[in-house]
Parts: sequence; C-alpha cells; structure tokens
Amino acid sequence: MVVLEIDDIKELISKVGYKDFFSMLIKTLEEDYSKWESFDKSPRVANHVDGGVIELMPISNDELYSFKYVNGHPKNPEQDKFTVMATGQLSVTSTGEPLMFTEMTLLTAFRTAANSAMAAKYLAKKDSKVLTLIGTGSQSEFQYLAFSYVFGLEEIRYFDTDPKAMDKFEKNMKQYDIKITRCNDSREAVKGADIITTCTADKRYQTVLTADMIEKDVLINGIGGDCPGKTEIDKKIVESSTVVCEFLEQCKIEGEIQQLPSDYTCTELYEVIRGEKSINVETHGTVVFDSVGFALEDYSVLRLIYKLAQENKVGKQMNLIPQIDDVKDLFSLLQD
Ligand code: NAD
Repeated sequence: MVVLEIDDIKELISKVGYKDFFSMLIKTLEEDYSKWESFDKSPRVANHVDGGVIELMPISNDELYSFKYVNGHPKNPEQDKFTVMATGQLSVTSTGEPLMFTEMTLLTAFRTAANSAMAAKYLAKKDSKVLTLIGTGSQSEFQYLAFSYVFGLEEIRYFDTDPKAMDKFEKNMKQYDIKITRCNDSREAVKGADIITTCTADKRYQTVLTADMIEKDVLINGIGGDCPGKTEIDKKIVESSTVVCEFLEQCKIEGEIQQLPSDYTCTELYEVIRGEKSINVETHGTVVFDSVGFALEDYSVLRLIYKLAQENKVGKQMNLIPQIDDVKDLFSLLQD
C-alpha cells in the first residue's frame, strides 16, 4: 500500500505543473460525473460536534472504492489549526484491498477549485472576466488558479472579515499577472462580478450575499455553505435563481437549498456535464452552483493522484496490510 505525504503531493503536482494538473483533474471529474449511475452514492456521514463537524465521505463503483475523512471547524484558525483537514484512502472494489492512503488537505483545495471551475465552464458566461472571492482563507488562491485556467480573468475582487486573511491573499497573488482589488465589504466586492465564489467559514446561517447586492446576472459558486445550519447566501437569491447542485440528496441536507422547502428539487451537475440539460447565466439569468463537496470529487482526485504516483514512483510503500504466504495463518505474524 502506498502512502503519500504532503511533500509527495507537492512533488507530483510540481512535476505536472498547476495548469496541467487542473486540466487533468477537470477531465477526470468530467469522466466520473458522466458515469453517475455506476456509482454507489450516499450523503456523507457527519458527526456534529461543538464548533464543527467531522465527516466520512465514501463512494464506489465496480473498479475502485474511496473515502475521505474531513473536518470543518471554523474557529480552528484561532488555535493555529486549519478549518478543514483531510486524509483519504483508495481501495480495489472487487477485493477491498487498500491501494493508497494519502494526505487530502491540499487535495481537497485542488479538487474543490477544479470542481468549481469545471461547473463554471458550463454555467458561467464564456467571457467571464471578473471573479469575486468572499472569504480569502485556505481555499481562495486555489479557486483563483483553477478559474484562471478556464476563463480570461482580468480582475479579482475580494473581501474577508479578517484583514490578515486579505493581506495573506495579496502576498500570495503578487506572483500572478492579474489586477486584484481589495474591498471593504461584500457589497463592494461583488460589483461588476461575472462569477462570485463564496468561501467563508462560520457555523451558522450567515448572509454573505443579499439579493440587493446582485446588480447583473452572475454565477454564484457557493462553496462555504456545506453543513446543516451553515449557509452563506440570502434565501431570496436561492429562490429566484436557477440552482445546480452536486448530489441533491446530500445538498438538501447541507447546501444553500436547505433553506427551501423539503420537496424542492433542482438540476444535478452530472446532467449539465452530460449535456442533458443546458444551463448558463446568459440564458437563465443568475445561476447558483450550490456546492457542498461530494465524495465523487474525492474519488476523482484520488484516482488521478494514484495514477500519477505510480507513473512517477512517488510515495512510500508501507506495511499496513500483512504480506504472508498462507493468508489463513495471520497468527504466524506473531511467531518470530
Ligand atoms: P478558512 O477558515 O481558511 O477561510 C475562511 C475565511 O472566511 C476566513 O478567512 C474568515 O475570516 C472568512 N469569513 C468568515 N465569515 C466571513 C464573512 N461573513 N465575510 C467574509 N469573510 C468571512 O476556511 P477554508 O478552508 O478556506 O474554507 C472555506 C469554506 O469552504 C469553509 O466553510 C469550508 O467548510 C468550505 N469548503 C467547502 C468545500 C466544498 O467542496 N464545497 C471544500 C472545502 C472547503
């Protein structure tokens, strides 16, 4: 079984390059979303604890099984810990044999950004130029990178309630050739936006975006509302927009649409990717991509990383599953 640490993931992605990695990941996500019916899917298992949530996200098809362990504790940065931390495993479905165990804090940021940009490729105006980020924490630079490879972005507008998070974002963005505009509040940040990503962390119903702030039709990529009782977007916006979600059953529990009646229904992303439904800001007005993070996205990034790790011989083979001649003689492991 191969084990991948942070340095292994950094090595693999730097070998491929960010741009190619995002493009491979988007292709892998599209392939997997297109095989929607072949997956055994369920909403993630969530343990709600004081100040956060700890979740297990399993999924499988005939070939591979994967799960991610992930938390969401919005106040963790006050103790110098990440809000979101994750690890994950990939196994062979037919035997259950584990193939890979890996860090997934970085991989979650990559897969979330790739998923956002992939959805936007279908849902946003083709010539989107202005991206707004509300929340400039851990996910923010990854969001910028993924979108920058899909759209000809000219400006990033951003706001965070924590000025230090905005300082950090500015420092990291210096290396990129893009106009960045620091804003005093969300209202200022969304002015002229073609795409708005909301990626705030707060364990409550908060209203980062209200209907009166939205001046023109826009794609709202809502990724921070991802837990019961944790939303970011004014109910009025969700009600009046065309909504696309990842997996309706999970999203009704965790997404922005938890604010709507329980019989509410909307398009799922796979239908758009397969061309069964065509939804775009230009034809439908404001579109909300209600993204909570679905296990299929982790499956995609795990299967891609496993392939890259094999090809590049990266990672450590670790003795986590016994290797013995007589597999009924487990006790022999204790005999020498
Ligand atoms: P983070 O804690 O690093 O950053 C969140 C930022 O939001 C912080 O800087 C905080 O100051 C800011 N913030 C909080 N309330 C705000 C408000 N009202 N207005 C503006 N800024 C505000 O967290 P992160 O890792 O960047 O994750 C951001 C959110 O995205 C979390 O809620 C997390 O659960 C969610 N997330 C979703 C997915 C997905 O697939 N949908 C994946 C990863 C993370």
